[in-house]
Amino acid sequence: MRIGVIEKNGRPLVGLIDEAGQSIQILPLAQEHAERGVLGFIEASSEERRAWVEGAEKKVPFKKSELVAPFPVLRRNVFCVGRNYHEHAKELSGSVFKSAAKDVLSWPIVFTKVPESVVGPYADVRLPDASISSQIDYEAELAIVIGRGGKNIQRGDALKHVFGYTVVKDVTARDVQMRHAQWDLGKSFDDFCPMGPWVATADAFDGTNTRVRCWVNGELRQDGHTRDLIFSIPELIETCSRGITLYPGDIIATGTPAGVGMGQTPPVFLGAGDQVRIEIEGLGEIENRFV
Ligand code: MG
Repeated sequence: MRIGVIEKNGRPLVGLIDEAGQSIQILPLAQEHAERGVLGFIEASSEERRAWVEGAEKKVPFKKSELVAPFPVLRRNVFCVGRNYHEHAKELSGSVFKSAAKDVLSWPIVFTKVPESVVGPYADVRLPDASISSQIDYEAELAIVIGRGGKNIQRGDALKHVFGYTVVKDVTARDVQMRHAQWDLGKSFDDFCPMGPWVATADAFDGTNTRVRCWVNGELRQDGHTRDLIFSIPELIETCSRGITLYPGDIIATGTPAGVGMGQTPPVFLGAGDQVRIEIEGLGEIENRFV
């Protein structure tokens, strides 16, 4: 299943998206559930969910511009993983990952983005004033959506806790990221977490085996595969749940492949009018204009 959220007359509607990504069957969620987007669906009982799916309205076409983030209101910060593809670690070894060459990669880097940074899959991303940052960069990422919560989840059981997957654009202010030992500030500007276009459930999409690509103004910049992750999806769930309870609807962004703007020679950053499109094979695409 693919579950997405569209906005009609200012109201969010949760529905099942067809394989072509062109039509939606609205689910009969009460408004208080629909306002939480896909989280309202995940948190419901299996009986409620079954009843909603059985009661889905007939297919109607929708416009891409009607899609909003699958989680308009996140429960809390997005967990994000840094340096999780070898080639990306290499390309930033002179800047963000200064110790990459000598580090034994025993543990992943984990930081967070504030929930308010989330915007829709086709929303504009507002660039900050140049005096705040002049080094805005893109990172294409597959994100895990937790279904069943838990603490101290073992990697062997981890995939049972996955509800599904979505696409995240981990927009980053590189100068701000590098200025502070902690990355959260440079990763959490308003609009810096475009998300969507929907959630593909784990029974219908295998996040451990998919291609992640990103284009800037039509030029292919990133082309990675999740089988090349340094820390696998089960290892990331195990790590993030060590001593911390994960809840249904928690998001873990799995890191980005090589090809970010800072890794170009010379580095290139985003400016007004740039269009950044991410496609994850079998899941979907998001595209945002920087303004
Ligand atoms: Mg990232």
